[in-house]
Amino acid sequence: MSSLFPALSPAPADRPAVRFGERSLTYAELAAAAGAAAGRIGTARRVAVWATPAMETAVAVVAALLAGVPAVPLNPRSGDGELAHILSDSGPTLVLAPPDAELPPALAALERVDVDVRAAGPVPEDRAAEGDPALVVYTSGTTGPPKGAVIPRRALASTLDALADAWRWTGDDVLVHGLPLFHVHGLVLGVLGPLRRGGSVRHLGRFSPEGVARELNDGATMLFGVPTMYHRIAEALPGDPELAKALAGARLLVSGSAALPVHDHERIAAATGRRVIERYGMTETLMNTSVRADGEPRAGTVGVPLPGVELRLVEEDGTPVGERDGESVGEIQVRGPNLFTEYLNRPDATAAAFTPDGFFRTGDMAVRDPDGYVRIVGRKATDLIKSGGYKIGAGEIENALLEHPQVREAAVTGEPDPDLGERIVAWIVPADPGAPPTLEALAGHVAARLAPHKRPRAVRYLDALPRNDMGKIMKRALNRD
Ligand code: ATP
Ligand code: MG
Repeated sequence: MSSLFPALSPAPADRPAVRFGERSLTYAELAAAAGAAAGRIGTARRVAVWATPAMETAVAVVAALLAGVPAVPLNPRSGDGELAHILSDSGPTLVLAPPDAELPPALAALERVDVDVRAAGPVPEDRAAEGDPALVVYTSGTTGPPKGAVIPRRALASTLDALADAWRWTGDDVLVHGLPLFHVHGLVLGVLGPLRRGGSVRHLGRFSPEGVARELNDGATMLFGVPTMYHRIAEALPGDPELAKALAGARLLVSGSAALPVHDHERIAAATGRRVIERYGMTETLMNTSVRADGEPRAGTVGVPLPGVELRLVEEDGTPVGERDGESVGEIQVRGPNLFTEYLNRPDATAAAFTPDGFFRTGDMAVRDPDGYVRIVGRKATDLIKSGGYKIGAGEIENALLEHPQVREAAVTGEPDPDLGERIVAWIVPADPGAPPTLEALAGHVAARLAPHKRPRAVRYLDALPRNDMGKIMKRALNRD
């Protein structure tokens, strides 16, 4: 297949590619460093990458792709048990790491290759086929133990090119990045995306609204973030005119990995005149839908299927949901060149994930607006509450609760109820811990905005919601009393 990174061979000497804090590499420097690391990978079966938010991680992953050896990014914050599971499951023989990284005992059996960003080696000839595995990325573990998704080169190329079409993403774009590098969002979209376009990425090391403002006011054009980042931006905006100016001037603000609360979307729009666009994807499918750069960004929607992606909404019995009425809920199923090949060592899980006609069952439930915009109502496993004969999505109730002035964070779950089947429970982080909102206040607030049967029947107060490294709410942990 054609190269994943045309800008690496030949690599322009003066074109910026990647920057992490004070350290930056041009395309020529990146090609040389990745070429050197690729030479040390040789013909290993798989390589682990100690994926700290650092230059070495970008070099290591590009090196593995150039060498044609599948890379398994590891979350450096994982516990020993999780690392041991991932390593025994994926079986890498080498680990690529920054020279200053202290590796935990779980990695002791692997040969260590330090990534040197000043080293120079030739870019190997690209002999990989498009179906060859490029990455093994473990899912976030939101609904169960993480599964290793085998992602072929074809999926990387097709998803990044589909996003380029939807977002008019070019080599002139400069991305601001503040996400971890061991998931699809931060690694595939945030690092491989700019490199495939021949553009550049500036990683903040650690996300902060000030860092975003600084980079966008200094020539960066795009920001990718998860909802917790946009929440922090929304909170910071009233006191930070530099940030408001920066966002107003950005070409594209994109959110993904979880639903962006409508309240934060609206606050950012009100303060900057700019609307964040949402895209929807998964480890297994890479990107499925997005609001297009020239489309109408509408709060609470993830836009339309990307080029090449077939998407349908399906009832529990497998029949397609016909209407585009914004009401009829179905499971999202997708098919296209963006899909993973299999869950590593999990033939049963792989078989269960696909329909006989080759669509992937996402487990996410959605409705469609008349113009085709997809609205995710939540995950089938945790966000769909069956109460009093209704199927109720947690997301719209969470959005309503977040508009209540006494609510800082909110999550909604269902729990067994003798009369209703399930009852709606609101988990609330109060804005002021000394003055939590009462159940009556919250129920009245929700009933005034949504149908009365969507009001919470119980409330539990927390200091913070349980979230993972991507800021996703771990509802499994909430339901476990
Ligand atoms: P696991 O599969 O291990 O339980 P996970 O599903 O959270 O974890 P990921 O593959 O990282 O692992 O996340 C994909 C999921 O994230 C999607 O299935 C969807 O539920 C959610 N998601 C991603 N983008 C959006 C979005 N824009 N709006 C709502 N949900 C989103
Ligand atoms: Mg999942």
